[in-house]
Amino acid sequence: MADRLIYVAGNPDGYPLEYYDPGTECYQGVLPELLRCFAEESGWEVRYYEPGPEDHREDLARQQQVDLLSGCGTGEEFAHTEGELLAVLTAEEEGTSASYGFLCTEVAPEDLREELSSFLAEVSQETRTGLLLEATETVQPGTGTGLLPLTVGLGVLAALLLAVLAVGLLRSRHRRQQEREAGEVDALTGLGNLDALIRHLPAVVNDKNRALYHLIYFYVDLERLGRQAGQTGSQNFLRHMAVVLREFVGEQDLLARVSEGGFVLLRMAGGQESERLLLDAVLKRLRLGPDGEDAPYLAAGVAPLAREDRDLNELLFRAGQCARAAYAAGESWRLCTPQELSRLQEEQRLREDVCRGLERQEFLLYIQFYVSVKDLRIVGGEALCRWEHPEKGFLTPDRFIPLLEREGLIETLDYAILEKVCTFLEELARGGVRDFMVSCNFSRKTFSSEDFLTRCGEILSRHAFPREMLVAELTESSLFRDQGQARKNAQALKDLGLRIALDDFGEGFTSFYDLLEYPVDGVKLDKSLVDNIGRPKGEAILKAMMQVGRDLGLTVLAEGVETDEQVRALREMGCDMIQGYRFFHPVPDWDARRQLLEREAGV
Ligand code: C2E
Ligand code: CA
Ligand code: CA
Repeated sequence: MADRLIYVAGNPDGYPLEYYDPGTECYQGVLPELLRCFAEESGWEVRYYEPGPEDHREDLARQQQVDLLSGCGTGEEFAHTEGELLAVLTAEEEGTSASYGFLCTEVAPEDLREELSSFLAEVSQETRTGLLLEATETVQPGTGTGLLPLTVGLGVLAALLLAVLAVGLLRSRHRRQQEREAGEVDALTGLGNLDALIRHLPAVVNDKNRALYHLIYFYVDLERLGRQAGQTGSQNFLRHMAVVLREFVGEQDLLARVSEGGFVLLRMAGGQESERLLLDAVLKRLRLGPDGEDAPYLAAGVAPLAREDRDLNELLFRAGQCARAAYAAGESWRLCTPQELSRLQEEQRLREDVCRGLERQEFLLYIQFYVSVKDLRIVGGEALCRWEHPEKGFLTPDRFIPLLEREGLIETLDYAILEKVCTFLEELARGGVRDFMVSCNFSRKTFSSEDFLTRCGEILSRHAFPREMLVAELTESSLFRDQGQARKNAQALKDLGLRIALDDFGEGFTSFYDLLEYPVDGVKLDKSLVDNIGRPKGEAILKAMMQVGRDLGLTVLAEGVETDEQVRALREMGCDMIQGYRFFHPVPDWDARRQLLEREAGV
């Protein structure tokens, strides 16, 4: 192919026709793009001669180093050139006409001139068809006005836009062809994949226009989609997404499916308000499935690009994070503002922390004893997690549980704590302590998963202690929302010999009668109910709840008890157990074990 190699001297300063981009250390713009297309179509290998910020065209022409000079205008003269200017753009302005394009040098191969000019004719043909006229309206005014090294008027600008768009059209045609050739097409949707996006990005987005772009990441919750729509339904939905998104892709934009559940639209954005409306419209369309059904399986994160945002992975990560955060919050899309980003970064750091913390056993087991109302004797304790963070210090669950839940790490923590609880109970049992129970919290995610039973079973099988010493604390949402699996899991726990307590009772809307459907042994009345003691109406409700609970044979525990007045009232109402700072604060597991073993030994 060496004889099909040509060298080009570029114009570093002819934005947007041709200019030097220090980021990529290449020439960018309409002309380099055209040459790339030309190379692909013709088989010429085209190389720019030492791209840089200085204009060396005259020198290179004189030294006969190059075959082509690029970014030349009418009237510009260079040494050793041959023939007319091969014009890419001609603009009429106030009676004079100016053209811009390429000049062949005397050393250029013979066929080059002919092939390049017929290629350029094809571009202008497409321009003339008017195919692109419509699209000019969507182009940002100011994409390059005034930067062309001439005083340009509107006529020139319009022509320039046409040229830019013509390249866009050619480019997208080439892009599709290249993607097919390189296996960069997603088989399901026909969109380009991540490799395609990586390859085409530099040709579309550059230092000069980057700030005009938004990267929109569409995150799809594949797990939920699969569960609700099945495999075929999921595939139809993903195809439908591709169809809808394609409608919103302009010539200056890129669309790709970058992962199983991630679509990316890199879009030259309009004004703030119009983008907002557009996003609302796109998401509304997407959130209606192929048959117009409700399909709330996705959300988008929108990252406006800054001039220095050159790292695609970083952008994908950011926008993906925003999309997930939006999805978790039930929003249809979220803008990655600097505040949002620093919040996400903080979470990312915390996430890395969590993984390290889990590995290095930084999560500790604390036990908060609860007492029997009858004689105020310790009858059990709740397992509560604490995080001994190497830099941030001692963290309580409100600082990390919501994050773990969002990030899908809560199961890991729940099972890690269960393991510690089992070790704790085994040691107690070995020390002769039997009349004590530990209640262990399980998040909804953990409890409603299919492998819950297997994983619990594995952990339990490693530890010997009477199973009735272990209580599973579940919240209403874990027990009643995902009914099928949760019901199975609850029954399986009972079959293993565990007891089940319903946590935070009174916070939600479950009635005692709903409880009868489930194998629940006890309820923990939420602190908010206990706080009502002393207020006649609130107290009446509490009393009524306690009565029904007792009638149904459930053990009733009151949480968050802080005062003697509360203890007195609860005793009168017939409450069975009390947990609260009035008696005990949570203590480390070794301390709780010491206290219990000492009590057993009669110390
Ligand atoms: P929870 O299950 O409702 O646990 C009771 C919370 O109330 C604990 O907060 C406890 O320290 C606090 N508390 C106890 N008595 C009093 C009192 O008299 N006054 C006041 N103001 N508060 C009292 P903690 O330890 O911060 O735990 C918060 C929540 O974090 C727990 O609420 C539980 O839902 C969750 N959690 C803790 N450990 C784990 C765990 O290992 N796994 C899971 N999934 N969740 C956990
Ligand atoms: Ca609890
Ligand atoms: Ca609780």
